[in-house]
Amino acid sequence: MEQDEVAIIGGGPAGLMAAEVLSGVGRAVTVYEAMPTAARKFLLAGKSGLNITHSEPYARFAERFGDASGRLRPALDAFGPDAVCEWATGLGVETFVGSSGRVFPTAMKASPLLRAWLRRLESNGVTLRTRHRWVGFDGDGLLFETPEGLKTIRARAILLALGGASWPRLGSDAAWGGALADRGVPIAPFQPANCGFDVAWSQPFVERFAGEPIKAVTATSTAGTLPGEFVISRHGIEGSLVYAHAASLRDQLAAGEDAHLVLDLAPGRSVDRLARELGRQVEKASFSNRLRKGAGLTGVKAALLREIVPGVARMAPADLAGTIKALPLPVLRPRPIAEAISSAGGIRWDAIEPNFMLKALPGVFVAGEMVDWEAPTGGYLLTACLATGRAAALGIDAWLPR
Ligand SMILES: Cc1cc2nc3c(=O)[nH]c(=O)nc-3n(C[C@H](O)[C@H](O)[C@H](O)COP(=O)(O)OP(=O)(O)OC[C@H]3O[C@@H](n4cnc5c(N)ncnc54)[C@H](O)[C@@H]3O)c2cc1C
Repeated sequence: MEQDEVAIIGGGPAGLMAAEVLSGVGRAVTVYEAMPTAARKFLLAGKSGLNITHSEPYARFAERFGDASGRLRPALDAFGPDAVCEWATGLGVETFVGSSGRVFPTAMKASPLLRAWLRRLESNGVTLRTRHRWVGFDGDGLLFETPEGLKTIRARAILLALGGASWPRLGSDAAWGGALADRGVPIAPFQPANCGFDVAWSQPFVERFAGEPIKAVTATSTAGTLPGEFVISRHGIEGSLVYAHAASLRDQLAAGEDAHLVLDLAPGRSVDRLARELGRQVEKASFSNRLRKGAGLTGVKAALLREIVPGVARMAPADLAGTIKALPLPVLRPRPIAEAISSAGGIRWDAIEPNFMLKALPGVFVAGEMVDWEAPTGGYLLTACLATGRAAALGIDAWLPR
């Protein structure tokens, strides 16, 4: 039976960072990846520019991980946003800070970074075995499905970096849950994070406006009030402003409450000014004209107002102004996890030692999105995956005898 010094299962950002750190300190590392190539989700993230980290003050950055912020903090302190940028530069990829404070590679894609990274791992002596799907434990060995059939591999230390549960067709399908639960590892159920929501649109509204962006609005939920934009989809709503509120809307729905995203369609104007300007419009003018001249609302924004409040055209100016400033858009349910940018849930923190080893399985470490934390979009996800991959690798190096 084959024996590795360190077996890393999962060739995403967390697993590859662990492979880099461990090979850098002279450990013999094999990375096992289920798919024909590594890091498919990382490459997909590159399609929208690869937001690798965020430039906001670090104290604020480190709080973006909600309840998990405390547990992630040591890993982030050791490998935070500045370290991510330096690491990318070291791979020949310069970064820049976008207008929102998000940090991207200048080329706005993942493939040059991934190519340089895989070359570095190869020259460090890391072996990458693709088409090796881990299917569970075989005694104290690891059982893999491979093109040559089932194979058992032993390793002195193991890192599981299998990812979360979103976009399963890219490889991270969370099918590992059973194998770990059988060994006494508690797992919080996976839920969609940074996801869209279903809305009960009328047929005419969807046919006319699906795909249209709603720009320059603010949205309020229990997460607070944020400016931004989102898109009307066939099923409901999608886009960055929705993702920023997704955890709070999801949790409200899960608690059996109604959930609304409260929109301000005219954030530049006060309610009094709107009421005054709407009151100035001649009564016999059409509602569309009164909205356009009195509130600057046309197209999809005006249609959204009518869709959510069917009697809006009959409202008095003061009530209409109030509705434009606080339009409650009811959401029905999150879109399926397969469509979400990321997932919440995963291996519970109380099952994990500070060095990222599983309490129930000495010698087995975990990192990345498969652990129970979530964060908004903005580069927080990749930073935490890289940071936990590195922290788990250092945990393995300290745990393994030389
Ligand atoms: C569309 C999209 C855009 C995104 N954009 C950004 C962004 O701009 N910025 C950002 O910070 N984050 C972004 N993310 C999120 C980010 O890509 C993930 O958080 C990150 O890739 C998770 O890293 P990971 O290493 O934990 O897991 P993954 O990247 O999911 O890697 C896990 C690997 O494990 C393999 N694997 C799973 N099960 C097995 C098994 N049983 N045996 C062997 N191998 C297995 C998988 O095939 C996969 O290669 C985006 C995600 C999506 C879907």
